[in-house]
Amino acid sequence: MRATFWLGRIAGVRVGVHWSVAVIFAVIALGLGAERLPDAYPGRGALGYTLLALLAGLLFWASLLVHELAHALVARRSGVPVDEITLWLLGGATRTRREAPDPGSEFRIAAAGPATSLGLGVLFTALTWLLVAADAGPLVEVAAWLAVINFLLALFNAFPAAPLDGGRVLRAALWRRSGDRPRATAQTSTAGQAFGWLLVVVGLVVFLWTGAFGAVWLALVGWFVAGAAALEGQASRTRQLLAGVPVRESMTPGPATVPADETVGGLLSETGPALDHPALPVVGRDGTPVGLVTREMLRNVPVEKHRTLTVAEIMVPLDEVRTTPPDGDLAELLPSIDPGPEHRVLVIDRNGRPDGGNGRAPRLLGIVSPSDVNRTISRLTGGHRQPAG
Ligand SMILES: [Zn+2]
Repeated sequence: MRATFWLGRIAGVRVGVHWSVAVIFAVIALGLGAERLPDAYPGRGALGYTLLALLAGLLFWASLLVHELAHALVARRSGVPVDEITLWLLGGATRTRREAPDPGSEFRIAAAGPATSLGLGVLFTALTWLLVAADAGPLVEVAAWLAVINFLLALFNAFPAAPLDGGRVLRAALWRRSGDRPRATAQTSTAGQAFGWLLVVVGLVVFLWTGAFGAVWLALVGWFVAGAAALEGQASRTRQLLAGVPVRESMTPGPATVPADETVGGLLSETGPALDHPALPVVGRDGTPVGLVTREMLRNVPVEKHRTLTVAEIMVPLDEVRTTPPDGDLAELLPSIDPGPEHRVLVIDRNGRPDGGNGRAPRLLGIVSPSDVNRTISRLTGGHRQPAG
């Protein structure tokens, strides 16, 4: 996802905020600060209402973050590595490195989110009562609003349609019953598309009927759910297609590399073929892979630093780059293969040992990009193209 600001790490998980969050902040600030709070507790200054609305907005996003963190922490406990959490226009998204290994884990990871929102709803309800007892004025309204929002989040996410949490819970149940994950995914994907389009229709009808702006948002959410559900079904079919295909059959072997100690200026002034690639593996003096650098990262370096900054100082270090052995399963890479250049996968031969610690240095064999995967898909489907999901 583009235009994301990285806030840092919480419990080791990278957390980012997409710029579109500002839109929701504005909606909340206007709705609460300009209407709801002044209506419920009139006669106070506009600044007070605005500050309270901003506090409510912050706690709203904090609630979403706690919901996503619940998914992330349970995922990690189930042995599923978590790459990052992003907050954006329509809520939060937790990106895991692979799918849950069994129905039980899938159920726990999915259920953790709505259960947490439910807990937060109860917590804010209790807080509302305390604030009422303390006669805390507009703060009561803020706490009550947060309680309702968290209950709504739990309810909405529990709907049994992919990609919502309830859809994952349903998929875990279907998967457990039939033992067939792809079939369970196809079923929840269909349910998700039906649910999404239903929301679009309901949202548009309500909007035309009442003119309420919230209805447009509902339609937008429905449109997103339908699209994501369709993608999920497609990704599952792609995964089935690529299962068992070794990475070495899809990778671009012997990719162009750049030396870690080269300066940015030195690299950019080169007219060689290196800069034709959106992403380049970075290697040390002895040729061992040490990271990945994208053309965009190089171009983002200010001109006055071209002569002093080296590639090593701006690259993504190897331990943050997705890597795979050459005989790894291509289907396993799918969650990592994104259109973004920083999501390239490096194929590294570690001589059969995960740490390469048997004296021989790890060797870079190739790189896997989305177009490599798409080419393999085309080949396997006899030229019928299907984008990697
Ligand atoms: Zn969730």
